[in-house]
Amino acid sequence: MLYVDGEWRGAGSGRSFEVTNPATGETIGDVADGTRADASQAVIAASVAFNTWSRFTAFERSEYLYAAYGLMIERKEALARLMTEEQGKPLRAARNEVQYAADFFLWYAEEAKRVYGDVLPAPRSDQRFIVLRQPVGVVAAITPWNYPVSMITRKVAPALAAGCTIVVKPAEQTPLCAIEVFNALHDAGVPAGVANLVTTANPAPIGDEFVENPAVAKVTFTGSSEVGTKLASRAAASMKRVSLELGGHAPFIVFADALPEYAAKGASLVKFLNTGQACISPNRIFVHRGIADVFLDVLVDRVAGMRAGNGLAEGVNIGPLVDMQALEKVDRHVTDAVEHGATLQIGGQRLIDDGLDAGFFYAPTVLSGVTPEMEVYNQETFGPVAPIITFTDDDEVLSLANDTGYGLAAYVYTQSLGRAMRMFEGLHFGIVGINDINPTAAAAPFGGMNQSGIGREGGREGIAEYLEVKLGGFSI
Ligand code: NAD
Repeated sequence: MLYVDGEWRGAGSGRSFEVTNPATGETIGDVADGTRADASQAVIAASVAFNTWSRFTAFERSEYLYAAYGLMIERKEALARLMTEEQGKPLRAARNEVQYAADFFLWYAEEAKRVYGDVLPAPRSDQRFIVLRQPVGVVAAITPWNYPVSMITRKVAPALAAGCTIVVKPAEQTPLCAIEVFNALHDAGVPAGVANLVTTANPAPIGDEFVENPAVAKVTFTGSSEVGTKLASRAAASMKRVSLELGGHAPFIVFADALPEYAAKGASLVKFLNTGQACISPNRIFVHRGIADVFLDVLVDRVAGMRAGNGLAEGVNIGPLVDMQALEKVDRHVTDAVEHGATLQIGGQRLIDDGLDAGFFYAPTVLSGVTPEMEVYNQETFGPVAPIITFTDDDEVLSLANDTGYGLAAYVYTQSLGRAMRMFEGLHFGIVGINDINPTAAAAPFGGMNQSGIGREGGREGIAEYLEVKLGGFSI
């Protein structure tokens, strides 16, 4: 279903497309296949609604966001189950995501009331300077499948809090989760046209409408660097504001003074989270040569205890990959690494026993002896593969870690305060976890440097992305 101007309706073309469960291959829904014309209507609805929504007081807008938060929490279990069926992640992880997603409504219900202006010192005695922060206008948002609820609320909540209206195009793999987020907004009483949803199996024409429609003031995108870069360059032609959350190639550095067991536990938890399909997933695990054996033993041991399967089943902690293309990419990276001399410590094959062949399961994999010649070292695998590289020197590992076009997340394990600070300052990444594998929250700015994107989501920085700064000079 599309949600346009406060109403649920089918696509203008009358067409729909099927949604499948990546763990079982079963069809779990049938969703409207929106077209460019549908996206255009949604932009018109958002433009009209902007005239009133942007004039609501921050206190009024805040009330709607609080209501949406309450509904998401009330519906947490049902939404988590749907997410597991549609996206594949284990139920516990899905519940965590719904909470994280709802947190953006709560945080921005509060931040809506903290958009302040400034009074500046002026150069002349008969002059006054006042700075206003005003909503940019209609926002067009494109979101990915890997975090199908939180990637939507991380955009919608700050946009609405700032006084913008929005049109969202979710990923074609996970439209059902998106529909439930919009059900919560609808039931929260958000006025017609303020938040609109266009589901589609064919994203390119919707993207065309977003970057070409002059009524769209801002495009916000989360997904691959390839698609994000193209959209941004086209949006630049009409000077639209752009925020991009793109891919990552996170280094995970374990120094000799770290506790190897603790670091290996952290690596096993964050690497295999969401089956490695996270933009902040560690892709290059640098371990000091002196503790590499202990680290590897503990990591392999923990991986051996993991259970892949349908995320609704008790005890499952590894879900499927999103599709066959993703599975083939993971297998290609592993095969290439082994051909170039890496040692396969565990995993390394598709899982097909016990009915898993109906889905896209790959065994959690650890590779040691990884070197820069290998694809797995240079490219984002987006799968359950932990590549281990050994090092001896701090400066060497810092320069290896920084030697990537990406700059989203990095992780450091050390017990030395000085080393932790030197790494925090020296790593060219937007997010650095120091002995911490989960440096994300609604209150924290999330985003990357270099090819990983532009702008930040979450925190006070997240609402600034939806505000224009206006200077008033008054002669008195
Ligand atoms: P993708 O770029 O193919 O898809 C992301 C979104 O873009 C989807 O909604 C898709 O429908 C849409 N899209 C695809 N082609 C389009 C086009 N021509 N015009 C308009 N929209 C289009 O990415 P993917 O491979 O599905 O997702 C994985 C990538 O997303 C990874 O690189 C990952 O690192 C990145 N990611 C980043 C973040 C972050 O916050 N930085 C979060 C999640 C995922």
